[in-house]
Order: sequence, then C-alpha cells, then structure tokens
Amino acid sequence: MKPYLVKMPKFVQWLFPKRIWAFSSNTDTVYLTFDDGPIPEVTPWVLSELKKHNAHATFFCIGDNINKYPSIFQQIIAEGHSVGNHTCHHINGSKTEASAYVQNVLKAEETIQSNLPNSQKSNMLFRPPYGKLTSKQAKLLQQQGYKIIMWDVLSADFDTRISEEKCLQNVIKNIRPGSILIFHDSLKAEKNLRYALPKVLEFLAEKKWNCKPIL
Ligand SMILES: [Zn+2]
Repeated sequence: MKPYLVKMPKFVQWLFPKRIWAFSSNTDTVYLTFDDGPIPEVTPWVLSELKKHNAHATFFCIGDNINKYPSIFQQIIAEGHSVGNHTCHHINGSKTEASAYVQNVLKAEETIQSNLPNSQKSNMLFRPPYGKLTSKQAKLLQQQGYKIIMWDVLSADFDTRISEEKCLQNVIKNIRPGSILIFHDSLKAEKNLRYALPKVLEFLAEKKWNCKPIL
C-alpha cells in the first residue's frame, strides 16, 4: 500500500483551491463521509449507528453498487443523508484518459439520478477514487457542474495493517469543526470501521458537534 497522510497538509489544500477540503472552522459542524458503498454487509449498519446519534453524513457511492443494491441506496436518501458520485467502477484518475474518466462519472450519475425520488435532483458532488484526479479531469467535471469534495482527515480505516485503535485515534486527534472526514463502507474497512465509528460518534456528541450532510 502506498503511503498516505492522515491530516491533509494546508499546502496541498492551497495547491488545489477549487477542490473542497474542509468547511469553515467557525461552526459546530463536522462532515462525515463514507466511500465505496452501498453494500449489504456494512452500509445498513453504518445507517443504524448514525441514526442512534441523530447524525447525518454523505455517501460517495459506486455506480455499480447502486445498481446491485438500489434499496440500500434509497434507504440512505430516505434517512436524510446526502449522496455523491464515486464513479461507476471505482476507476483511478491517474490511470484513465480524461474523456473516458468523465464518461464513467456521467454513467454513475445516470444511475444516481434514476434511483433518486422523483422530485429530488442530484447534488452533483464528486469524490475521486484514491483521491486521484488530473487537472484536466477536474476541470471537465467542474464544467459539468460538479463540486469536487476531498477531505482534511483520513481515518485510514481501509488500512488492514493498522489497529482499530489507531484508526480511531487518526480521527480523534485530527478532527476539527468544519472537517471533512473519510470512512469507507467497504469490506476492507469493515473491521476498523465497526470499532471506530461508534466511538467517533460518541466523541462528537460529547463535543456537541453536529454531523451534517454535504449539500
Ligand atoms: Zn473509493
């Protein structure tokens, strides 16, 4: 596995000012995000944990998974969470030519739109798989109306080499008001997520920080 940064340095955020890394710190709100679902093994559990704390989040869904599990996708929406686009097949921007990349995103968008309730429009939120996106791909997506949502805190729940406690500490030590935090509702992340998420939600409740969806 390639090295990664748990706390996104400010200079990276300044290098790509048109991508959204965090929101104003002048708030009592944090933004939990879950990538790679929906899947039956993990996503319904995440939803039930969020519900216990009246917390709301943003789910960056893979188009293929929405097609396989539309009822879980619809449950996410019905419970007041926000959804975003995470491509159709979880493709890597640095390995995919720009027009093919955009096509894959737009195909996922059709799936999202066709599974939203009739009156609801897509929020046009996009998160690049692996955080990989070329400047050209970013520009093309922004021209389509997408907001590119990155993060400032990585739980690293996907890293099967770290302990569950390390995953929890990655979040607790770094999360601030306005933070965008990444988890994954995926099989790979499940072990760390099932440990860390309930404790993160308790930590946030003690701080009296609200969890709201990105709109
Ligand atoms: Zn992903």
